Amino acid sequence: MNPKKCPWCQSEKIMAEGTDKRIAMVCQKCLARGPEVPVSMGREGALRAWNKHKTKFKPSRRSRIAIDELRQLAKRYQLTHAILFATDYRKVSHVVTFGRTVVACGEAADFGNKLKTAMGWPASLHSQPSRVRRLQAEIERLKAIVTANARSV
Ligand SMILES: [Zn+2]
Repeated sequence: MNPKKCPWCQSEKIMAEGTDKRIAMVCQKCLARGPEVPVSMGREGALRAWNKHKTKFKPSRRSRIAIDELRQLAKRYQLTHAILFATDYRKVSHVVTFGRTVVACGEAADFGNKLKTAMGWPASLHSQPSRVRRLQAEIERLKAIVTANARSV
């Protein structure tokens, strides 16, 4: 199941964020936040809640760091990978990753996930960038075609 576009900014970059107790899907462009669900419901639960919700939730205050901001920084300094770990005054940790290519994107996300594990974040908050997810879906689709062709020969 893929997240629906953000109803506020139409972005497709929707990722799971939260604490070790509650999790919500958050638009990485405008930071609109879907309904929170208990972490036991996992990313799928948060995703279902996000997809069900149409217009009710509001963009959140700027308490999250959007990937677009990291992208702008990466562009300015010609970075291929950028991994930001930050803690704000409320002691909330942030992990934001950026990769210029699909491969770099995956590598940066992997490193970000290691950071999250080291901090004890649940696996449901581990991210797979949408570009990597799309690529993996495409690989699966091609594999199915290759398998079907191999059978028919
Ligand atoms: Zn948005």
